[in-house]
Amino acid sequence: MRIADLQLLPIGGVDAETLGDLAEGLRSLGVQATLLSPVEPPAAARDAGRGQYRAAVLLEEARRLTDARVLAVTDLDIYTNGLNFVFGLADSPGRAALVSLHRLRPGADRDLLRLRSLKEAVHELGHTLGLGHCPNPRCVMHFSNSLDEVDRKGVAFCAGCGEAVDRALPAAVRPNLLVSCPWRAHGRARGEVLRILRRLGDPRPVVARTAVPGLLAAQTTLDPRAVTRELGALLARDPLVLQHTLKWVPVDLWTSADPQSLQEAVRRLRERIRPGERWRLTVERRRYTRHHTAEIIAMLAGLIQGPVDLEHPDRIVRVDIVGSDAAVSVLAPGDIVSAGKPAPPAGPGQPG
Ligand SMILES: [Zn+2]
Ligand SMILES: [Zn+2]
Repeated sequence: MRIADLQLLPIGGVDAETLGDLAEGLRSLGVQATLLSPVEPPAAARDAGRGQYRAAVLLEEARRLTDARVLAVTDLDIYTNGLNFVFGLADSPGRAALVSLHRLRPGADRDLLRLRSLKEAVHELGHTLGLGHCPNPRCVMHFSNSLDEVDRKGVAFCAGCGEAVDRALPAAVRPNLLVSCPWRAHGRARGEVLRILRRLGDPRPVVARTAVPGLLAAQTTLDPRAVTRELGALLARDPLVLQHTLKWVPVDLWTSADPQSLQEAVRRLRERIRPGERWRLTVERRRYTRHHTAEIIAMLAGLIQGPVDLEHPDRIVRVDIVGSDAAVSVLAPGDIVSAGKPAPPAGPGQPG
């Protein structure tokens, strides 16, 4: 389901193990979820007469607490008008969803609870993408109001619903900026990236952690090179613009991190080095053990013509290997911004 920017919001006390299992399950389906700090339910959510909580009020609270795509998770017993209880609720289409574990727990050990909560989470996320209920009882978008119905359906979308998901999530979900930060500062770093992208004119930037500690991936509708250029100019005037992030790198394309795909990517991008320009190849290898950096450089450098200049290149062919994926770009030195090293507007600059 390739959602890069989901936030998980625990409301009213949810045990860490169950939340962790849910985040892990979502990740296995391509949904990258970051965990927000737990919050208490607003007083207005409680219906004292029924001893239950109003799902719509909890959903509203989730919407209020973040402006990102959010899945609120609760152990409270929730209901909506006309139903004794619900497993979840979502904006459809929209960005906020809610699931309750309360009615999923009976008879469930950890594995079954993990599976049930994942189904209901995917179901509600499907609603946020605009999907309605599906008549196919095996499809995750089938409406369930009993545990039997939950257990009968799968985690997957049927073919028709899967197509609807693909239509709702266009291919442009690949990040076009990589931003590094100190290992323990992801939250603050993410806030800084969001702030800067909004300041530069992107009303709805998306920033998420990658599988690599200290590395964030951002998706902006702005030209990523314009972002780093303008950020470099901001930084030259005010070195405190960057307090929680270290380096910003535009991404031209993503490919698999196997030798063949990397070589193909370099062949596609090498035209961007004009005749006579001096170049350098930089490989950042993270969470990738199949080849050493030197091997990767050796298999790629031979594909590029022209003089190499490690000190003052005109172009940097940059490969960031992030687990099994790789971001590949051909950059001018000024396209890369480092905290404490404002990028010059033109000319030979800092190495990346
Ligand atoms: Zn539903
Ligand atoms: Zn379906």
